[in-house]
Amino acid sequence: MRETVQQVWKKRPMIISGPCSAETEEQVLETATRLAKTGKVDMLRAGIWKPRTRPGSFEGIGAKGLPWMQQAKKITGLPVTVEVATAKQVEDALTFEVDVLWIGARTTVNPFSVQDVADALRGVDVPVLIKNPINPDLELWIGAVERVAKAGIKQVGLIHRGFSSYGNTEYRNAPMWHLAIEMKRRNPELLMINDPSHISGRRDILLDVAQKAIDLDMDGLIIESHIDPDKAWSDAKQQITPERLGEMLGQIAWRKEDINSEEYHAALEKLRQQINHLDDELMQILGQRMSIAEKIGEYKKNNNITILQTNRWNEILERAFKKGEKLNLSKEFITKYFDAVHMESINHQNKIMNS
Ligand code: PEP
Ligand code: MN
Repeated sequence: MRETVQQVWKKRPMIISGPCSAETEEQVLETATRLAKTGKVDMLRAGIWKPRTRPGSFEGIGAKGLPWMQQAKKITGLPVTVEVATAKQVEDALTFEVDVLWIGARTTVNPFSVQDVADALRGVDVPVLIKNPINPDLELWIGAVERVAKAGIKQVGLIHRGFSSYGNTEYRNAPMWHLAIEMKRRNPELLMINDPSHISGRRDILLDVAQKAIDLDMDGLIIESHIDPDKAWSDAKQQITPERLGEMLGQIAWRKEDINSEEYHAALEKLRQQINHLDDELMQILGQRMSIAEKIGEYKKNNNITILQTNRWNEILERAFKKGEKLNLSKEFITKYFDAVHMESINHQNKIMNS
């Protein structure tokens, strides 16, 4: 049965899939048909205009691909979404009955572009998904949400697609999950979909990223799929076939936010109280640690010694790594934790030494 875009918007998890780019009519229609056949996809996606980082890459088929999406919708009964970056693209997409628009990461960074899109949306009733900006800046992301909402768009959603950084990492775009969590905390009324494709940049870790997103209570997934992934005109390395997508969605452990069980809630409450208790103790101890750092600051001040002593800092870290290993604490965590504690100590000493 055909679902309206309003029904799909409320569906959890909401699954969006389709090629990175619309390439040919056959490719769009065959991808759409095979996706619909999995029975696990709620909306079709395809890039029509592709903002590429470097010129010379495939920059999208353009408005000529819009009737293909319209046809894909007709054949499958699934709503469709495309990326828009200019007022003209909004107008063209709406002419061809695109159901949901999305704003890409390279557009979200630019308030002029977002405003241009927002102005074109005035008086239009179409849901809009807004990808995080390519740089880890929540204010820019929130700014884009505000511009679109101010234009009168009632249904705004977020897509977490990770953040770019210089140099090769495990991910094409670092997920920086804490930023997605903070964005959700600050905008609890907005749905948030995760984009494992653009985070991963490759097929072998798609499932892990998708599972993590579901574990963090994201509302859905947008995953790129292609009938012949290796031959895709853009983002070939991260695309999977519609059948593989169906299989992958079957492997994800879908979690719910809560259940109606007294036993579960009682057990959780008990453990959470223990955590609160330990957190209180940790804070007490950190406070004590800072008082000692201040005493050291007094001595350093009286003897005119620098705050930072690299040898001592190395010694602290080495000790912590050794101890951490025994306590099952990762080196990454120990580094972050001690960096933070050390900075706070330095700030305390700074106050003493410069008072
Ligand atoms: C895309 O979805 O194909 C795309 C270009 O994504 P992003 O804006 O996240 O780079
Ligand atoms: Mn892509």
